[in-house]
Amino acid sequence: MVTRVIPVDPFDLVIFGGTGDLAKRKILPGLYRRYLSGQMPVEAQIIGAARGELDDEGFRALVTESIETFVAKSEQDPEAIKSFVEHCSYIKVDAKGTGGWKELASKVRQNVVQAYYFSVAPSLFGDLAKGLQANGMAGDNARIVVEKPFGRDLATAKELNSVLVDVFDEHQIYRIDHYLGKETVQNLMAVRFGNVLFEPLWNSQYVDHIQVTVAETVGVGGRGSYYDKSGAMRDMVQNHLMQLLCLIAMEPPSKFDPDAVRDEKLKVIRALDPVAADDIVRGQYRSDGDQPSYLEEVDDPQSKTESFLALKIGVSNWRWNGTPFYLRTGKKMSARMSEIVVVFKDPPHSIFGEEAGSTHNVLTIRLQPDEGMNLSVTIKEPGPGGMRLIEVPLDMSFAEALGTDASDMPDAYERLIMDVIRGNQTLFMRGDEVEAAWMWTDPIINGWDRRGDKPSPYKQNSSGPEESLMLLHRDGRRWRDIDT
Ligand code: NAD
Repeated sequence: MVTRVIPVDPFDLVIFGGTGDLAKRKILPGLYRRYLSGQMPVEAQIIGAARGELDDEGFRALVTESIETFVAKSEQDPEAIKSFVEHCSYIKVDAKGTGGWKELASKVRQNVVQAYYFSVAPSLFGDLAKGLQANGMAGDNARIVVEKPFGRDLATAKELNSVLVDVFDEHQIYRIDHYLGKETVQNLMAVRFGNVLFEPLWNSQYVDHIQVTVAETVGVGGRGSYYDKSGAMRDMVQNHLMQLLCLIAMEPPSKFDPDAVRDEKLKVIRALDPVAADDIVRGQYRSDGDQPSYLEEVDDPQSKTESFLALKIGVSNWRWNGTPFYLRTGKKMSARMSEIVVVFKDPPHSIFGEEAGSTHNVLTIRLQPDEGMNLSVTIKEPGPGGMRLIEVPLDMSFAEALGTDASDMPDAYERLIMDVIRGNQTLFMRGDEVEAAWMWTDPIINGWDRRGDKPSPYKQNSSGPEESLMLLHRDGRRWRDIDT
């Protein structure tokens, strides 16, 4: 059962690319779940707009199928699906041509929130923005949602930003990073800024280091040709991991308001040190039994694109100087897991003597699989064995603690789409943030391109290349296990 919530204002949502993979897997199922929760107003219209030859009935059949495929069985109510698809219609629109635009303009209502989701290749963003403007759909009530990838370097990101700001104000542009829509990511802010417990310790005096891991078990599979043009740096680090780093490292904003939060994130990106070549580990998974290697799954058998990346990053500011941030992400890892780990320093002096052992506090923030937090604290080992210290977890799985089923929680896409309708940009990236992230990323990529660096092969179902373990070992630290 999904919890009932207060409906948002009436809206028209146009999904350009409404017949594509992202619409089918995430956007349409997400909207259905919001409908089921009672959050979608009765007047809402969802308009699919794409190149395919479809009529309203055909689109409704596609929506029904995507719900049946991608929404949990327990939430598939045939009556609700039937009434939800009544909100859906379709117009064939060619972003690059003139067909369909007039019809779309007459369907979209001027007096409600108009959200235009650009779920198409970024090369079409400019055409869509101009098409909306030329047909009177880029007024004050309009907002656009754009998907990643937002550029492949600083120059292309600037180019994309400029085609969008030619037509829309920055406050109308919602650049999605679905990691920011995750419950735990917002909880990271609640934990930091809603408790007195953590913030006084949240600095290099008390934090030894921070780890951010986003591990996937899948390989590039059928997306080989696409992925090979980007690699882990462009696909994951420049956006998702960078956003997580910003939320951990940023100063407290004066209020929980979109620009206050984004100003603080921007300052973090600008304080990132350049990364030295020996603080970077790149890898490519090798073949394993009948499992093909990375190089067998992409078009170029000599490709130097990384499917794994680990970095040691310094943040040069008053708060973090001396506390490294270790980031890693990879495909074909031993488990699917995303987590942030804040490892605190040892107490300055042990009153218990060496034989008691030493432990330190670790705060783990899990984004997936089961969202939650865990704080390890030091206690005495129970029993008569004298004063021996052990770590025990203060564990909080949100689903358990809040007595809700994990499926009750809105998925990241659902939450973000509703934020677009509500006009709240806090969890979306601002143009200057994206550009600053590329400004930091470009020299790193240019460096390994210039040197002709080749990624190290690594075993599938592992935690990446050996060198990644060494990246921490040489500093006397170790990664958390990926399987936990
Ligand atoms: P897709 O190829 O499955 O779908 C593309 C859609 O765009 C189709 O509906 C197609 O009809 C429409 N389209 C193509 N050319 C058009 C034109 N000239 N005019 C109007 N419509 C046109 O792609 P997708 O996987 O749904 O991805 C869409 C965007 O979202 C891409 O930018 C992609 O990088 C991004 N993205 C996708 C995912 C995902 O999981 N699929 C995840 C993150 C980001």
